[in-house]
Amino acid sequence: MNLQRTIRNEISTSGIGLHTANLTKITFKPAPINYGIRFVRTDLKDRPEIIASYQNVLGVIRGTTIGLNKEIIVYTVEHLLSALFAFGIDNLIIELDNNEPPVFDGSAKRFVEMIKEAGVIDQCAEKKFIVLEEPVKYFVDDKANAVEITAYPSTEFKVDYSIDYKHPLVGKQHIALTITPENFESEISYARTFCFDYEIESLKRSGLAKGGGLENTIVIGADRIYSTEKLRYENEFVRHKLLDLIGDLALLGRQIKAYI
Ligand code: ZN
Repeated sequence: MNLQRTIRNEISTSGIGLHTANLTKITFKPAPINYGIRFVRTDLKDRPEIIASYQNVLGVIRGTTIGLNKEIIVYTVEHLLSALFAFGIDNLIIELDNNEPPVFDGSAKRFVEMIKEAGVIDQCAEKKFIVLEEPVKYFVDDKANAVEITAYPSTEFKVDYSIDYKHPLVGKQHIALTITPENFESEISYARTFCFDYEIESLKRSGLAKGGGLENTIVIGADRIYSTEKLRYENEFVRHKLLDLIGDLALLGRQIKAYI
């Protein structure tokens, strides 16, 4: 039997957010069985809670935003949730004293370190999984982009991800992986956020990426890649897309057994 999991010890850190550039202190606290993952905005009156659920998604433009309204909101939850989901954390209190978790280096590396430092523990209750009875398919093609996602029944959580960008420095990239804490840490967690240089002006105009810089985002130019360090994996871009996908799947509210 798989047991529900939380962390052993409370842990905190702080940093600036990718889109808001707000300095935020983030604290993980152990939570009881069947609690789920909840964000607590400690800076707001009555410390409102936002359950990490697809039902609370408010936006998906350049990041996943969840909230209850325009004020009780948390931007860019996907990197943090990706690490928690891969480590099988079912129950956790995430306190934030502002509206966006720190971006750190644009990857999930620091969140993995926090989870490992805090320690993962089993709880005395059976873990609940989403199990598929038949394949589920999503497809959209808006001319600029086409996305196809299919989830098949499986006894474990596996993902096979391909991207095909019409840009010579990205092109076709692929990764297939069974998602375990060990695989996530070594193969996915270091992959950083990226964008194209021609997008930056419109991102800034939309009020996004205020905390973005070469220390947390790989910028892809017409003929070169700009970053404070060289690529961490040859196919770092598809690995980061997989990181984001796992983070969004965490909003299902329970672990999943599927081949995606
Ligand atoms: Zn991302």
